[in-house]
Amino acid sequence: MTDSQVLFPAAGHTEQRLLAFDSPTLAGYTWPYFTISGAQDGPTVCLLAGVHGAEYPPIDALMRFCRDLDPLTLRGRVIGVPVVNLPAFWERTPFVCPRDGKNPNRMFPGKAIGTFSEVLAHHITESVIRQGDYLIDIHCGDMVEDLLPFTIIQESGRPEVDSVAMDMAITYGLECVVALPPDTGPYVVANGSGSRPVAGTTDEAAAQLGIPAITPEAGSIGQLQSEAVQAHLRGLQRVFQRLEMLDGTPAPQSPPMLVREFKWVRAERGGFFRKAISAGDRLEAGGLIGQMVDLWGAPQAEITSPVAGVVLFVTTSPAILDSGLIVGIGVPA
Ligand SMILES: [Zn+2]
Repeated sequence: MTDSQVLFPAAGHTEQRLLAFDSPTLAGYTWPYFTISGAQDGPTVCLLAGVHGAEYPPIDALMRFCRDLDPLTLRGRVIGVPVVNLPAFWERTPFVCPRDGKNPNRMFPGKAIGTFSEVLAHHITESVIRQGDYLIDIHCGDMVEDLLPFTIIQESGRPEVDSVAMDMAITYGLECVVALPPDTGPYVVANGSGSRPVAGTTDEAAAQLGIPAITPEAGSIGQLQSEAVQAHLRGLQRVFQRLEMLDGTPAPQSPPMLVREFKWVRAERGGFFRKAISAGDRLEAGGLIGQMVDLWGAPQAEITSPVAGVVLFVTTSPAILDSGLIVGIGVPA
C-alpha cells in the first residue's frame, strides 16, 4: 500500500509509510517516509536526507530522530524522508542520480516532465517541501569529500524568511554557518573564471516559497561516523526546541564562524592530485592547496588558494578530471 501524497496520523502518533509519485519517470520506486503528528498543535517541519544517496550520517540521523521522537511531547508535525535519492543510495553513487547523471540538488524546484532528477525534485517540492513551514535538508561530505561541519542557508532576499533561517542555522550548532547572499550565489569558480550562481538547491527552492530552510553538513567520505550522526541529532533537537516544538532550550554555546563568501576551487586540468591540506585548515591567499601530477607522476601544476579562508570541504580522492572540484574555502565575514 503506497500513498500518492503525504498522509498524517491522528494527533499523538507516528507512522512509517511509503510514498509513490504519479509519474512514469519515477515508476518502480517507492519512498519510505515518516509522518509524526504531535499531541499538540504547532508548525510542520520537513526533514530530508539522502538527496545525495551516499551521504550516510544524515540518513541515519533522520531515521533515528523520527523513530525516537515521542509524538506525545511534540507540538506540531514532522515529515521525514530518509533517502530522497534512492537510485544513488542503492547503487552507491556519489553526487548524482545514476538514472540521469544529474545532481538532484541543482534541480529544485524541479520539472513535472523531464529526467529522473528533475521530476523527483518536482515531486519532493510539491508533495513534501510545500507541506512544511520549515525545511531541514541534512547533508554531509560525499563519498570522496572531507569537511568541517557547517550549515548553509541560501538567502532569498526576504528578511522575514532569511532571519528565521539564520536563527535555525546558528541554533543547529555546527562550527560554521555559511549564509549565501541571494544574488551572487554560493558556488564561485576560482581560476579566474569569475563567479557563477548555482541555482536549484532544496534550501533555495524552499526559501523562494517563503519557507525558511537550512542545509546542515556533518560527516564525510562514505563513512557512517557516529560523531556526525550525534552532531545532527543534537542539531535537530536544538532546532525543534528553538521552534518550541519540543520542551527545553538549546544549551548555550560559542557562536559559529560566519561565512558569506564560499570559494570553490577547481583544477584547470585533471590528473592525480596530492593534497597538502585538510578540512578545517586555514589558508592564506596564495597558500598551497596541493600538487597536480600526470599519470606518470610528473608535476603539472601547483594549486593555490585565491583567498584567505578556512577549508570547509576538500576532495579526498586523487582522481581529478579537467575542471574537477578540489576544495571549498569559506571566507570568514
Ligand atoms: Zn550532499
